Amino acid sequence: MPIQICERIGEITYAIRDLEVGAPRGVIKLNIGDPAAYDFRLPKIMAREICNVVAQGLNFYADSQGVIELREVIAKREKISPDDVIITAGTSEAVNFLFAALVRSNAEILLPCPVYPQYPSMVRLWGGKPVFYECNKEENWQPSVESIKRQITKRTVGLVIINPNNPTGAVYSKNLLAEISQICEKNNIVIISDEIYCDLTFEKRHIQISDVASSEAVMLNGASKCYIVPGWRIGWLTFHNFKTNALREAILKLCRLRLCANTPAQYAIAKVMKGKNQIHISEFRRKLRARRDFVVKKFEEAGINCVKPEGTFYAFPWIVDRKMRWRNDLDFVLQLRDKKKVLVVHGGGFEYKSISEEKYFRIVTLPPIKVLDEALGRIARFLEK
Ligand code: PLP
Repeated sequence: MPIQICERIGEITYAIRDLEVGAPRGVIKLNIGDPAAYDFRLPKIMAREICNVVAQGLNFYADSQGVIELREVIAKREKISPDDVIITAGTSEAVNFLFAALVRSNAEILLPCPVYPQYPSMVRLWGGKPVFYECNKEENWQPSVESIKRQITKRTVGLVIINPNNPTGAVYSKNLLAEISQICEKNNIVIISDEIYCDLTFEKRHIQISDVASSEAVMLNGASKCYIVPGWRIGWLTFHNFKTNALREAILKLCRLRLCANTPAQYAIAKVMKGKNQIHISEFRRKLRARRDFVVKKFEEAGINCVKPEGTFYAFPWIVDRKMRWRNDLDFVLQLRDKKKVLVVHGGGFEYKSISEEKYFRIVTLPPIKVLDEALGRIARFLEK
């Protein structure tokens, strides 16, 4: 009798990586948001610190909640107690723990659409139901408050916002955040705010949910993007305005079960966050902004539609395929991958369904201009044919 795989595995997709399966050799990869894969270097002090920490012998199992040194720096920034900070193996583990604790069977979690695909997959994995609220391109991909209100039911337990947003690059205003927070408070819904791109905004300043929300909110953040160390696997959760410690205690149980997050990386990041040495962020942002501008200009020249991203290192453009040359967005992306060797991710991978002739995709704007130029040139030629 062949082994039987549990049904819940069938619920999991992660198009960003799934599309690499079967990709031709030498493809230009514009699918994964990894700044360390391009010409961005982690702050020198971080490389030094992690070597020091390892040489000093800080290689033991850490406290399951996270080393106090790192929890204290984060707590100080957020003006909360270190007890309300939990360190995880990347933000991904934080998302997993949150839904493991929060999603009872058939519970509903409100997610933005389009959405970073880890969210719906994790909700489904834990037996919950992802319910999507609209973010409209006509409103610069800002969440629709009306749609949020419409989607709330008795089973809604959490609402996710991703700000700055992956995949659209949208950055949310204070008023909008306050409005969402009020709706959540009124309906007893926990806000889950993923702010992993918090330092990567261009024209607008990022506003964190804890600065405006009086409702129960969990903030997710991590070192992968802003500190350019995705391979170190460090993320964190912070708890704000909770009436009880039930959710925190439930997640701590899960933390003990998996022992701890990477110990040397926690110490090294704590050292860097404590220092004033954040110069890499302005340089990082400057380069990203130039690359964003280049991509937007190239899209315009090629007749590709795009709302200018206000932050992150993604763009979420769309083509209008009047002659229906491609069956759907996935067909477009697969043909582009196989014929022109450029890998982007189709809108459907972010739960954003193509409407007839409009076909959406996400590209990563991280590579140097020369690489972007080559990739965008191939896309333009692919469309012309
Ligand atoms: N949240 C968002 C919005 C992301 O875009 C990503 C990675 O792309 C993650 C979480 C996962 O990050 P980590 O490397 O901290 O697990």
